[in-house]
Amino acid sequence: MELYKDVLELYIHIPFCVKKCDYCDFLSGPFDADVRRDYTKALCREIKWWGIRLSDKLITSIYIGGGTPSWLEANYMAEIMDTVHKYFHVDPRAEVTIECNPGTVSSENFNIYRSVGINRISIGLQSANDDELKILGRIHTFDRFLHTFEFARVAGFDDISVDIMTGLPGQTPAKLTHTIQQVTRLQPEHISAYALIIEKGTPFYDRYKFDAVKQHAGMETEALPNEDQEYELYKTAQMQLVAHGYEQYEISNYAKKGHVCQHNIGYWKRVPYLGMGIGAASLLNECRFSNERNIHDYIAHTDELVMENFRQESPMRETYEELSRQNAMEEFMFLGLRMNAGVSRSEFRQAFGLEIDGVYGAVIQRLRNEGLLEAAEGRIFLNERGMDLSNYAMAQFLQ
Ligand code: SF4
Repeated sequence: MELYKDVLELYIHIPFCVKKCDYCDFLSGPFDADVRRDYTKALCREIKWWGIRLSDKLITSIYIGGGTPSWLEANYMAEIMDTVHKYFHVDPRAEVTIECNPGTVSSENFNIYRSVGINRISIGLQSANDDELKILGRIHTFDRFLHTFEFARVAGFDDISVDIMTGLPGQTPAKLTHTIQQVTRLQPEHISAYALIIEKGTPFYDRYKFDAVKQHAGMETEALPNEDQEYELYKTAQMQLVAHGYEQYEISNYAKKGHVCQHNIGYWKRVPYLGMGIGAASLLNECRFSNERNIHDYIAHTDELVMENFRQESPMRETYEELSRQNAMEEFMFLGLRMNAGVSRSEFRQAFGLEIDGVYGAVIQRLRNEGLLEAAEGRIFLNERGMDLSNYAMAQFLQ
């Protein structure tokens, strides 16, 4: 039996989209066929380079995100997955997710995904209301999403997640309820309900920037929901998803029994992960680093990877930060408290050789006195009120 020193999660970034959505500030966009081909080759070079260096790690999850990974030609996706399996030791039980957007994926794609070991599908629906999809600048309609969902089921996927959004311009609890009813009717195993964030540099920012400022200041808004309305939408999603049999396991994530996203849980528990592709971030040996964001530089730099030189640093690296023990403990707390299960005292002790109360005893006591945090069965977690005020509660662990 082979022995692995450690476990590792992989993230693979596919930055291609049919068109840019109006609210999106992810590292993504439309690129032509030549760039998609060259990027695939570059990504495979990076996968090989890291795989040779990290051959003692057992890969417990893989997440292929974007962009729109399903917009990449399926044979390129197969090439990428074949390279991963060739150079990394992937646990046969590993969760392997690909993000798909309606209107970019055929039933044939899903068959290919299954054949290369992908076992989980995450579909970006956002809303079941076509007028809201139009406002967001999405390319699909709800009807298209239904086809995509059906293709995935027919191909045999029994672990499907659907993304929906709250806080959309003009969104009412009734409209959100309609989306939730339409989605839960299909019985996906997992649902993520993310709040819309207006990011600078997007068409949405130009359109709604005054509203966004008012929203942050707790003032009345015009198109965007104000703070109270946002909270009402968050609670609407929470109550309805729970009523439909989904357990909330993190601020924005809900799952049926046995279907929490292992990759995300690993991220919140600070399991080491390696990101590959442009802009992809990693946490390895208590260092956070990320790749360069320019796709043409990335493609060129992967040409410089020298396989046999083990001391060579990745020429695609753009940022690098060694985390102090203090940083690592802070991350452990504020990432862990995102989960309903919170953080484990014994895992803290295992990670840092210290008792959690010895480091954060005063903060924990204060949050307990404020009625936001509870402790039971060796765990510390935010209660419902603490989750509602999670930004405040988690900030208390930053020193
Ligand atoms: S499909 Fe997703 S990644 Fe692509 S532009 Fe739209 S929001 Fe951004």
